Amino acid sequence: MTEGMAAQRGLLIGGSWRTTAAGEIDVRAPYDGRVLGRVPVATPIEVAEAVMSATDAHRRGPLPPAERSAILRRAATRIRDRGDELARLVALESGKPMREARGEVARTALVLEEAAEEARRITGHLVPIDGVAGSEDRIAYTIRVPVGVVAAITPFNGPLLSPAHKVGSAIAAGDAVVLKPATATPLSALELAAELLAAGLPADLLHVVVGPGDAVGDALVDDPRVAMVSFTGSTSVGLRIRARLGLRRATLELGGNAPLIVHEDADVEAAARAAVAGSFGYAGQVCISVQRILVHRAVRERFERAFMPLVAALRVGDPLDEATDIGPMLTTEKALQAEAGVRDAVAAGGRSLTEIRRDGALLWPVVLADPDIALPVVCQEVFAPVVSLLSYADLDEAISLANATDYGLQAGIFTASLAVALDASRRLEFGGVVVNDTSRYRVDRMPYGGVKSSGVGKEGPRYAIEEMTEEHLVVLRGTPR
Ligand code: NAP
Repeated sequence: MTEGMAAQRGLLIGGSWRTTAAGEIDVRAPYDGRVLGRVPVATPIEVAEAVMSATDAHRRGPLPPAERSAILRRAATRIRDRGDELARLVALESGKPMREARGEVARTALVLEEAAEEARRITGHLVPIDGVAGSEDRIAYTIRVPVGVVAAITPFNGPLLSPAHKVGSAIAAGDAVVLKPATATPLSALELAAELLAAGLPADLLHVVVGPGDAVGDALVDDPRVAMVSFTGSTSVGLRIRARLGLRRATLELGGNAPLIVHEDADVEAAARAAVAGSFGYAGQVCISVQRILVHRAVRERFERAFMPLVAALRVGDPLDEATDIGPMLTTEKALQAEAGVRDAVAAGGRSLTEIRRDGALLWPVVLADPDIALPVVCQEVFAPVVSLLSYADLDEAISLANATDYGLQAGIFTASLAVALDASRRLEFGGVVVNDTSRYRVDRMPYGGVKSSGVGKEGPRYAIEEMTEEHLVVLRGTPR
């Protein structure tokens, strides 16, 4: 594919690629600002058309599960066949280094396969109502039926994988989907949609509308025919969506601020190696990036000795260069904002163990030592290659420091003690706790989702399908006696 090819895709409504009266947006590479493609902006008319077509598809009734499964499998193969080309597109439009972009494409194919498997085993359960006096002649069970039209709204940082999670799970569940990808990175999502159609997905089951969140996103969310919103993005936008939905369903995968606890009995060198990838992969623009490293004071010096040379060795630059570890942030404004947060922390008494260096959207990795934990760069979501090192005296203090944030997506703890691991896993207020690895660990079949301001509901096809189906109860009565 040439870099301009995705631009010819347009909006996807009812199986055709559309232009609109509202003009086009340029999709630019974060690294050098080059235009990668132009995509038409949807108006409320296209949004309504897409929802109407999806509603009609839902009324027609779902595809048989085996057919959904076969389509998803074929799409996975098609994505894999275009692996290098799609990885390059992901790297170009998101600024993600090639190594990680390849990983994203591989995971996208796997997610579609996971969804294909789950499509064939959607099930309810038996309810033993015959155990209740007077109901001996009845039997009850539940079935899961598609919710209807799902609006999938995705962020910039997983331009192929995030749409695949939502669209793959919705198709597996038997729903119809309208996808709104991030305006900064819509090209990979359009390629995913093209591959699903080419794999045999009926044209009215998937539509893609592109355009600003506060116009296209709002129009989609406000349409009462949308039964459910599956949203991944910032907490502020998630709250705005929740407030507009009334009783309609939502899965909200929101921001994070992940801690990594390195206990006194941990393999400190292994923790340091994992912390580097966990903190700085994709320039920290990952919701489960390690943002705070809490190190037992007995091993703090050893940890720094192992960690800092690895940080110094990270290569910052062009995401298309195979040697690059850290590419650009999405925009220069975001890099400037993160740099300002770091400088504030230093002005307030924290120390930077690294040189604070920025060039446009490129921000070199920052390690802050002992900043004030009330500062935004520590307790809020920084979403940048910035990590804070803090010490603690005992596990109680580590847990209370780890929980001292509004967020609760995933946490990591390195320890050799099973007792410490089990205790921490109960007391850490996070949707997932990873022992002897960082919060960055994720395989796509696991239930993934946060607590507190990190959202509600789970992703991972099996769990997303539960969210995207309704449970209906069926009561069967034998011939009344
Ligand atoms: P964002 O600004 O919240 O945008 C996410 C999506 O919402 C985009 O498609 C955006 O459209 C759209 N949107 C914006 N305003 C909207 C509105 N009023 N109604 C409906 N949709 C609207 O987030 P981002 O900057 O792209 O992504 C980074 C954030 O996502 C971080 O907070 C990160 O932690 C979070 N995230 C969470 C997870 C998770 O699984 N928990 C995973 C990845 C990322 P535009 O692009 O047009 O603004």
